[in-house]
Amino acid sequence: TPTLQLRGLRKQFGNTTILHGIDLTLNEGEFLVFVGPSGCGKSTLLRLIAGLESASGGQFLIDGKDCTQAPPSERGLAMVFQSYALYPHMTVEQNLTFGMRMRGVPKADIARKLDRAVTVLKLQPYLQRRPGELSGGQCQRVAIGRALVQQPRVFLFDEPLSNLDAELRLHMRVELAALHRELGSSMIYVTHDQVEAMTLADRIVVLRDGRVEQAGPPLQLYREP
Ligand code: ADP
Ligand code: ADP
Repeated sequence: TPTLQLRGLRKQFGNTTILHGIDLTLNEGEFLVFVGPSGCGKSTLLRLIAGLESASGGQFLIDGKDCTQAPPSERGLAMVFQSYALYPHMTVEQNLTFGMRMRGVPKADIARKLDRAVTVLKLQPYLQRRPGELSGGQCQRVAIGRALVQQPRVFLFDEPLSNLDAELRLHMRVELAALHRELGSSMIYVTHDQVEAMTLADRIVVLRDGRVEQAGPPLQLYREP
């Protein structure tokens, strides 16, 4: 069974159709990247998958189970936003553990998951700092850490590197590729940066005007005329 299945997934706002019947499959451990010009519907598609927007039609399955109407909390997916969405008044440690504390996760589990995220993302030096005292790249690592502790079925990334300068973007791209290798998790990643797509993706999905224009492994896709 594929990890995620999109079957004719549609979205309209008012009378305007933003996504026209998207059919797509995400396999276990696969790194899927959505690319396409601004306004083609990448963010909307990711938000539909996350459950932050409701579908206007079609079906969405997680591990073969129909989750078209499931709220975000029941999907087992974790989203990393371009804007980080960290709590400014909390320390890094509190940001990482807040969701787990809210859900009543046992203390020992919290400690174990925190430790793993801190190790993988090298966050030890920043644990007692607040987001305002961190660089963009450090904030983005915390945001990824907050997704990591949820042990999601799939990681969803919405242009996570867009706010970083070129050097840091390159560095974080390498880190993300390493993270994917280490975790072996399924990931969906939205970007308008073709180089990012080329280096990270197992498979690239090119969206245009709310439709899948092309899909395939990077080399196959960009070798075609
Ligand atoms: P992308 O991420 O590819 O830049 P988006 O998914 O953000 O594209 O947007 C696709 C289209 O849907 C755009 O024309 C945008 O203006 C429109 N759109 C997005 N969200 C809404 C909304 N809440 N209401 C109306 N239109 C929206
Ligand atoms: P991004 O920079 O990530 O593409 P946008 O500026 O397109 O984000 O959209 C930011 C927010 O505004 C999103 O929540 C999106 O759904 C909403 N939005 C985008 N376009 C419209 C629109 N035409 N009408 C209403 N809401 C919109």
